[in-house]
Amino acid sequence: MKPGDIKNADVVIVGAGNAAACAALAAKDAGANPVLLETAPESERGGNTFFVAGSTRWVFNTVDDIREVLDLSDEELRTVDFGTYSREDFLDDMGRVTQYRCDPDLTETLVDNARPTLVWMRTKGIRFEPMYKGQSQKIDGRVKFFGGQICNFWGGGPELSAGLFRALEKAGIPVCYDTRAKSLIYEHGKVCGVVAEHDGEDFAIRAKSVVLACGGFQSNAEMRTRYLGPGYELAKVRGTQHNNGAGIQMALDIGAMPFGHWSGAHAVGWDRNATPYGDRRVGDGFQKHSFIFSIMVNADGERFVDEGADFRNFTYAKYGHVVQQQPGMFAWQIFDQKVDHLLRDEYRIREVTKVTANTLEELAGKLDGVDPKRFLETVKAYNAAVQQDVPFSPVVKDGRGTDGLPIPKTNWANTIDTPPYQAYAVTCGVTFTFGGLRITPDCNVQNVGSRPMPGLFAAGEMVGGLFYFNYPSGSGLVSGAVFGKIAGTSAARHALGQG
Ligand SMILES: Cc1cc2nc3c(=O)[nH]c(=O)nc-3n(C[C@H](O)[C@H](O)[C@H](O)COP(=O)(O)OP(=O)(O)OC[C@H]3O[C@@H](n4cnc5c(N)ncnc54)[C@H](O)[C@@H]3O)c2cc1C
Repeated sequence: MKPGDIKNADVVIVGAGNAAACAALAAKDAGANPVLLETAPESERGGNTFFVAGSTRWVFNTVDDIREVLDLSDEELRTVDFGTYSREDFLDDMGRVTQYRCDPDLTETLVDNARPTLVWMRTKGIRFEPMYKGQSQKIDGRVKFFGGQICNFWGGGPELSAGLFRALEKAGIPVCYDTRAKSLIYEHGKVCGVVAEHDGEDFAIRAKSVVLACGGFQSNAEMRTRYLGPGYELAKVRGTQHNNGAGIQMALDIGAMPFGHWSGAHAVGWDRNATPYGDRRVGDGFQKHSFIFSIMVNADGERFVDEGADFRNFTYAKYGHVVQQQPGMFAWQIFDQKVDHLLRDEYRIREVTKVTANTLEELAGKLDGVDPKRFLETVKAYNAAVQQDVPFSPVVKDGRGTDGLPIPKTNWANTIDTPPYQAYAVTCGVTFTFGGLRITPDCNVQNVGSRPMPGLFAAGEMVGGLFYFNYPSGSGLVSGAVFGKIAGTSAARHALGQG
């Protein structure tokens, strides 16, 4: 559909990723007539949602809770220890990783609605699978999950995205591609539509409600530098090139309240030679998330962070920033043969910056940009500090750390002494930004006077107040789905005069 063909839309939704699709499906369920505007061409549709691995996080206390989301065989139930993940666990994880800054109302809304929303998504044809890879290990014949996360959207980003577009089509909800929302129509204190550009022409698309679900500002180099800090214009972007902060900006332009951690973002260790934006073929393969079993060294040949401070679920999203702060904005992850079997799949792709060597001296000469002498000293000091008497276990925080180093490694410390050695070069890859708009738990955007703005709703990455400094893995999609569904429902009620 083209914007000129839109007739009688009750709800205009900006974006066509996970949050937007959930908003549209919920608005339709609530009896309204939604339409989506998507700046990308159809060939690049899906936003960041297309690029995800698909991990997701939700509360489960019993097998019945798990079975609401996952179809499990009796065999799986017998042989797999899924553990439990309580409401308190999820709230604690959100509090702990955000340094207790996450907004309590939004966080409770996320935690309490996560599982019911995924169950609702199942009714729209979205499927889920146990996340064996990367979240479980076989120990004494039994598969054990760790890190509070057991579930993936089936087929990752490409399948999730395809499933959402199928659901939209089935519900008869149109998507206008190549249609970039530019500003909000704001009259007499109410939002009543969007001005959007298509094929060089501007269209005023009027509607009773607007849902902004068009991502953060991570793809905008100027905004990254302005808000995240100097040097971030040089960072890689892990996903879509289309999330330029336009939705946030158009709401601020009419008086919306900025909220959350504007100088914060989700950022990971990402292949040093990755493309500037996400590559739809490689997906999330540029990430290098087995760093907990490595030591990481910078250009000075020195360690700079506790690689084993926690499960990677709770550190990976902040360690991209730590790499960004190193000289030259890069680091090498170093592994020896003992942990080769623990490396995640992304270490075995073709598009990888990797070197191998049979001696540490040979490896030192191959680490591009690293002081070789200092590197060898670092490995020697690290090897001498490993607490070899503490048993190693990848499925618990094993406490096998180091003694006496200025920067300790707290868990999963193994000596680096068994060839062949392998090393991977990473830089900072920004996933999405944390600063955004302030919303009520009903997803109504608030103005600078803390009052709801009639007709304006928001969901997804562009909502501020949930994530600060860090992020528990698997929270992005589910927060987009939870707040997208609520935003669509609220927008429909507003459009139909019900609330
Ligand atoms: C590589 C990678 C891996 C990830 N893995 C996971 C994971 O495993 N689990 C997890 O929970 N999260 C993961 N995430 C985070 C997750 O992708 C996001 O949290 C989520 O997809 C955001 O959904 P959204 O709908 O808010 O944004 P998006 O899916 O990005 O959708 C926003 C849409 O808005 C469109 N748009 C932007 N500006 C305009 C405009 N002006 N007019 C019209 N349209 C516009 C964009 O083109 C885009 O389609 C990952 C992200 C990346 C990049």
